[in-house]
Formats: sequence, C-alpha cells, structure tokens
Amino acid sequence: MELLEPADGFQHPRFEHGCSPKADANGSELKAGNTVIAATERASCSLDNYLVLPDHTMDDRIAEARRELGRDCVVLGHHYQRDEVIKFADYTGDSYKLSQLSAQADGRYIVFCGVHFMAESADILARPDQNVILPDLNAGCSMADMAEIGQVEGCWEQLEGMGITALGRGITPLTYMNSTAAIKAFCGERGGLVCTSSNAGAAFRWSFAKSDKILFLPDQHLGRNTAFALGIPLSEMVVWDPYMLNGGTTPERLRAAKVILWKGHCSVHQRFLPEHVDNVRAKYPGIRVIVHPECRWEVCQKADALGSTERLIKIVDAAPAGTMFAVGTEIHLVNRMGKRFAAQGKKVITLDDSGCLCTTMFRISPQHLAWALENLVDGNVVNRIRVAEDVKYWARVALDRMLEVPAA
Ligand code: SF4
Repeated sequence: MELLEPADGFQHPRFEHGCSPKADANGSELKAGNTVIAATERASCSLDNYLVLPDHTMDDRIAEARRELGRDCVVLGHHYQRDEVIKFADYTGDSYKLSQLSAQADGRYIVFCGVHFMAESADILARPDQNVILPDLNAGCSMADMAEIGQVEGCWEQLEGMGITALGRGITPLTYMNSTAAIKAFCGERGGLVCTSSNAGAAFRWSFAKSDKILFLPDQHLGRNTAFALGIPLSEMVVWDPYMLNGGTTPERLRAAKVILWKGHCSVHQRFLPEHVDNVRAKYPGIRVIVHPECRWEVCQKADALGSTERLIKIVDAAPAGTMFAVGTEIHLVNRMGKRFAAQGKKVITLDDSGCLCTTMFRISPQHLAWALENLVDGNVVNRIRVAEDVKYWARVALDRMLEVPAA
C-alpha cells in the first residue's frame, strides 16, 4: 500500500486521544449518561485514522497490542496473505490446517487473516465465548460467491424432480471449504460434508462409500481434478450451470454422471493456462511444475504434481538442492517459497509471470490488523463474524465430518 509519511507533528490517533471511553472497574460495561453500553457496543477506534498511515508504522503497534492481549488472542494467517500481515500470525496454513487450529484455540479472540468463509468456519467451530474477527469485512472470495444458497437449493429440487437423488444409493452433496456457511449447512443436513484441497480425495471416497453420486460445490476444477485422480473419466462428470435451464444439461447426462460439478472457479487459479506449462518447460529444461488443484484440468494434467498449499510447500521442502520449481498458485505464497527455499539451494518461480494475486485476501492490510487488535485491547470487538445459530448446527456437522477425514 503506497501511503505518504505522516506530516511532522502528526499524533498517533490511538495514543493521542484513545480509542474509546474507558470501561468501568469491572471492565464489562460503561455509562454514557443514563445508558449502559455493553462492551461490544462501545465506540471503536476509527479505521480511517489507521488507513492514512504507512504500513511500516503499524509494526510496533501490532506487536504491542499482541503483547497486551497475550494468550487471549490468536492470530491465524492464510498462506496467501501478504508478508506485512502474515509475519504477525501465530500460525500459518491452508484452510484445512487453520480450521483445525481455530477449533483448538484457547483464547477469547481468534483474529483470522484470511477471507470471509474461513472466518465463518472458525466461528462455527469456536466455543460460544470466543470471538472470531475478520480484520476487513470486504475480504471475501469470488469462488464462494459463485454458489448462492438459493441456487443450490433450486438445483437440488430439480435433481429431486428428475429422480436423480433417488437413483441407486443416492447422491452426497460435498462442498469445498470455499463456500458460505449456508452451503455447508445444506450439505451437512443432507448427509454430506465439507472438504479442502488437502482432503478432497478422502472426502470423495467417504461419499462414494455411501452413495453413487456426488454433487460437488462450488469449484468445478477441484471437483474434476479430484474425481479424475480417483479414476472417474471425464465422460462420467457433468457441469451444472446455475444460470441455465436444467443446469445447462439433460436428465440423461445427470443420470449417467457419477459427479455433478457446480460451475464455479477460482479467478486466481483459473488464470493459469496449459501454455504457461509449455513455456516454462521450454525456457527451463528439467524444471518441475507443481500446481494447486483449483487450476484447470488441462493445466493439472501437464503438471508434475498437484497439491494443496501445504502439500506444495512439502514437495519443494523434500526436493534435493538444485531443483527448480514453477508453482501454479497465489503469488504471495510463491514469492515466500522462493525466499525460503533459496537458502536450501532450490529455485521457485511462478508459473505465470503476470502474477496471480488474490485481491480479496490482499484487502487485509497491516492497518486493518492494527485497528482490530488495538480495539480488542480497548475492549471493543470489531468485525466479529457470527454465523446464525440455525445455520451453525448443520454446518458444524459438515465441518466435523471434514475434520474426521484425513488430509493427504
Ligand atoms: S485464491 Fe481464489 S479461492 Fe482462494 S480466497 Fe482467493 S479467490 Fe477465493
């Protein structure tokens, strides 16, 4: 973020006039006139005061807030997060690892430096006394937005109407972690589960052990790549387009298919193309190409290996010195891998020079993190993510099933 240095004499907004009125002796409430205001309703520090400051001026403030909050606060950072933010994370990982960690967190505050669906999942798995905070509420996920609950319910009703759900041993709805809590609850209520890219294969096997078909939401590429790796030919997969009549397909094709793929994708990973693999191989003979399974099937087929972000890191880690990798995933992680593994004599470059950035993940800035943490120090819970109780129950069922299915 390019910001100007503050002018001479600029006063730090928090230490100049404080974030909020002070709490009373028991710290749980304060009085404004005759009104008693609960802790979460106090006036919070204004985010605007932070956004005018440069990134580097946040470092000491974030560290100080972390120190004051101590073990009451855990900061989780997804691998795609920018360096200036992830350096403050207690734990880093992919969404599978972070969901396990958030389920085990002790403190009252879980600050999730990721995107909205991840924070929702953390809230579903959290204890009632825990608060999950997303430093910027605009950090969403374009893939998750591609499957709305009304569309998915409509699809299911049509499948029921065509008799698809009653065929043989039925159909299991399986959703990728990158989906809304409502979609997770939809799957949980119908005997399905959630998966991540770490355990998608195991989740497919779990589903096929009890049913003949899977409805996979919302990422067609992860669904196709996973099913294909399990030996299901492309001819036994069909894409459901929520914007077309009957999903853009026919009852015959739906009856014959083992996997119905929702027409969603990740705008970051879909940018990688087969020619990127050809180009990098031509330019660097002997290079190993490893990609995330959110990439297109054609790209994955040309790659040497596929894997979740955790697995991509492990592949490079296990390689001998002198190995060169082209990695098809989000650019912040690729750059971080490049720096980390250079020390081991390995070279890591991006599969596509134009750089694939997750712009929504990037929204969480040091300023947002400092703002969220300093408000917590002052007793203000800002940007709390709360999933409605009726949604939470079945979403939790689906997530618990996911946590029982091992990662690859
Ligand atoms: S990388 Fe893709 S799937 Fe992941 S959060 Fe960003 S937009 Fe969503």
